[in-house]
Amino acid sequence: MARMSLAVVTHPACLEHDTGPGHPERIERLRAVLDAIEAARLPGLICEEAPRASADQLAAVHRREQVEALLAIEVPEGEHGALDGDTIVSHGSIEAAQRAAGAVIRGVDLVMEGKAEAAFAAVRPPGHHAEPDRAMGFCLFNNVAIAAQYARASHGLARIAVADFDVHHGNGTQAAFWDDPVLFFASTHQSPLYPGTGARHERGAHGNVANAPLEPGSGSREFRDAWSRDLLPAIAAFAPDLLLVSAGFDAHMSDPLAQMRLRTDDYAWLTGELVALARQHCGGRIVSTLEGGYDLAALAESVIAHLRALGDYEP
Ligand SMILES: [Zn+2]
Repeated sequence: MARMSLAVVTHPACLEHDTGPGHPERIERLRAVLDAIEAARLPGLICEEAPRASADQLAAVHRREQVEALLAIEVPEGEHGALDGDTIVSHGSIEAAQRAAGAVIRGVDLVMEGKAEAAFAAVRPPGHHAEPDRAMGFCLFNNVAIAAQYARASHGLARIAVADFDVHHGNGTQAAFWDDPVLFFASTHQSPLYPGTGARHERGAHGNVANAPLEPGSGSREFRDAWSRDLLPAIAAFAPDLLLVSAGFDAHMSDPLAQMRLRTDDYAWLTGELVALARQHCGGRIVSTLEGGYDLAALAESVIAHLRALGDYEP
C-alpha cells in the first residue's frame, strides 16, 4: 500500500495527436504508459481526466499571438502539418496539447486541495521545448511552465521549482523562467544534443537556473552525482513551495534518441530524492509530467518505477 496518495491525470485526446509514420513521439508511447499503469494495479491510485487548458492559462507562458495561432490550427482528418521539421500536427493535436497542459494544471489542483500528495500527468505532446513564442521539438505548449504560472495565479504559491531529467535540455522552460526570480529550473541533459542549450554558465537572470550537462555515454554515477552534488542542493536552497517535474525517460540506456546509459532504478532513485525534497520544503507537494522516452518497454518500466517512488509504494 502507498504511504501517500498518488493521482494520475490523463485524457483520451492525448492518443489522437498523430505525428505520422516513423515519428518517435508516437501514440504508442502513451498507450504503453497507460497499459503499464493499469497492469501495475497500484493500490489507492486516483485516476482523473484532464480538463482543457484555457487560452488565458496558456497565455500566462506563451505570447498571446502564439496561443491564438496554435489554437486556430485546423488540420483535416488524416492529414499532417509541420510547425518545424519535427513538430508535426494532425487533426487531434491542438485538443491533445490543451489536455496535456490541463492535466498538469489538474495535478496542481489535486495536490493543493489535499486530494493527493503527488500527481503525474500521463500526457503527450510533451512540453519542455516549447518556448514562449515558438513550438518546437515535438512540443506545442509548455505544460510544466503553464502549470507553474497556474499554481501562482490560482493557489497563491510564491516560489516554484521545476526538476527536468529528460535527456534533452528543457530550453522552453528555461526561457519561460529566465527573468523570474521566483521560478527555478534545474536540469540534467546530454550535451552535445538537441536543442543545444543548457550550458553550465546559463544561470538565469537571477541565478534561478541550474544546468548540469552530461557527456554522451554518461550513466548512473554521473547522473546521480549531478543531482546529489549540484541540482538537489540548488533546489533545496531555493526552497520552493511546490516542486514540478519534467519527467522524460530518454536518458535510459535503451533509448534510441540519445547516448546516455541510465537504468530504470536511476529514475526510482531520483524520484525518491525529489519526493524527500518536496516533503522538506513543499509539504510533500510534487507534480510530475511526462516529457520524452522513446523505447516503449524502457519507457513503460521507467514510468512505473517513477510512480512507485512518487507514491511511496513498496518497491
Ligand atoms: Zn527528450
